[in-house]
Amino acid sequence: MIKGPWVVVWARRMKRYAQANNIDIPTGFRANVPSWGAKKGLLALRIKKHAHVPSPDRSLDGALRAVLLQFIKDEKAHAAWQPRIVDARHGKSRFPYNANGSWGGKRSTDDLFLVCHYTGGLGSLRADASYHVGGHGWRNLSYHFAVDRDGTLYWSNDVEDLTWHARGFNSKGVGLSFVGDESGPTLDQRRTLEWFIKTAVSKGGIPALGVPRIEKVTRHEDAQFIDPSYSTSCPGRVGREFYAKTAGTHFTTHPLG
Ligand SMILES: [Zn+2]
Repeated sequence: MIKGPWVVVWARRMKRYAQANNIDIPTGFRANVPSWGAKKGLLALRIKKHAHVPSPDRSLDGALRAVLLQFIKDEKAHAAWQPRIVDARHGKSRFPYNANGSWGGKRSTDDLFLVCHYTGGLGSLRADASYHVGGHGWRNLSYHFAVDRDGTLYWSNDVEDLTWHARGFNSKGVGLSFVGDESGPTLDQRRTLEWFIKTAVSKGGIPALGVPRIEKVTRHEDAQFIDPSYSTSCPGRVGREFYAKTAGTHFTTHPLG
């Protein structure tokens, strides 16, 4: 994650340029620059992505305009984002699967909550699935849903399946993860994770994925509050903040009440 003074300088220039030229600036920009809060990390990512856009006339104004217009286009695409979904249940994925592996069986879908993860040191879904299936002897990738770096959503288990992804939370937890480390999700992963979380907590849940409406969102590491001997840094430094802010008022460190 790139943060730092240059992001602020670029954002301030872009904001001034937009105001001087009556360009309608995206929501994330409208707030005062020093107080972006939740939007800051995402804004930094987008500026990083677009800062190389060439200036058509080699002037600073031209560069600012090009970056800003690209930014606005990107903001619109972000709002309309629909992830690519891969059905990877019941061994249908290209990842390791063992039909005889350890599993918790079926459960009721009443009062389910979301438990947010990252894959940590494991750099791919295949590596994580190998670890869960080969290393632990489980049936398949233990999360219910996992997001690859390009934003593709893998549907690994039905929410009725009681899987092993967060000790203490498994009986009611729906596991959601992204492939990544301490630096957090990529821009495309953020789009899919935001889409998933916001759709899951809205009125109808996500019927196409069998997800009922979810009231509460927590993180793997919050399991320490029910079992102090339990230790994990999942979902990582940036993921931890990202998930809490994305879930908004639905976020809780105590989903079991
Ligand atoms: Zn985790």
